[in-house]
Amino acid sequence: MLFASPPWDQFVLLIGELTLLVIFGIVAFGLFVVFIALYSMRRGKFYFPRLMSSGFIMLEGLLKAIIGLFGLDDQDLMSFFVRVHNSMNAKGFESIPVSRRALFFPQCLRSAKCPAHLTPEGLLCQGCGQCSFGTVLSSFRDMGYRVFIVPGSSFIQRMVKKYHPAGIIGVGCIVEVRHGLEMCDRLGLCGMGVLTLRDGCVETLVNWQDVIEVAALGVDPRSIPENLDVSPQ
Ligand code: SF4
Repeated sequence: MLFASPPWDQFVLLIGELTLLVIFGIVAFGLFVVFIALYSMRRGKFYFPRLMSSGFIMLEGLLKAIIGLFGLDDQDLMSFFVRVHNSMNAKGFESIPVSRRALFFPQCLRSAKCPAHLTPEGLLCQGCGQCSFGTVLSSFRDMGYRVFIVPGSSFIQRMVKKYHPAGIIGVGCIVEVRHGLEMCDRLGLCGMGVLTLRDGCVETLVNWQDVIEVAALGVDPRSIPENLDVSPQ
């Protein structure tokens, strides 16, 4: 019988060995990516950013499991990979004129008592002074940015179709920023992400300095409004 013959046994053995080899290779690569990520976080410098980014896309589930085994928070890993993505895109983003950039904020950053209404272009801030948007949005617009406060990624896609920006800054929680960066990659746009400090649906927080630092990339310092302090903190 074919299935009981020595060549068949050898074939099955070979398949088993190859499978083990592949599994071992994937786990070893996952451990390597986690090690380099932790080392990069510790040194404050990105090592092998392209390899890290590809590794994260291919092995996200495994990397989270490995991080979990070490008792670490996978949110740190996720935000690290957003920063890796930013560092890879920074040069390209710098070269895009501000007039071809768009800045998207999530509506959860506004005050819970916000009187603004949703329009086809997102929320139109009335500058009521109950949150930072009232003063900061106009400064980003003065820099040349198209600025939107949006309730979700479908709005972003609609604005991208309408205004054709080449570069996008997306502010949001880790899930939103990741989806946004993936969308940018799919559409061939240069995407930069800024993470909010607190997740949630109302009155979340962002470090405005993080937004300003990304927004100021490649911008003539003379065209940055004085109230946007771009000096590192
Ligand atoms: S400043 Fe603008 S976004 Fe903030 S609460 Fe007032 S209207 Fe809403």
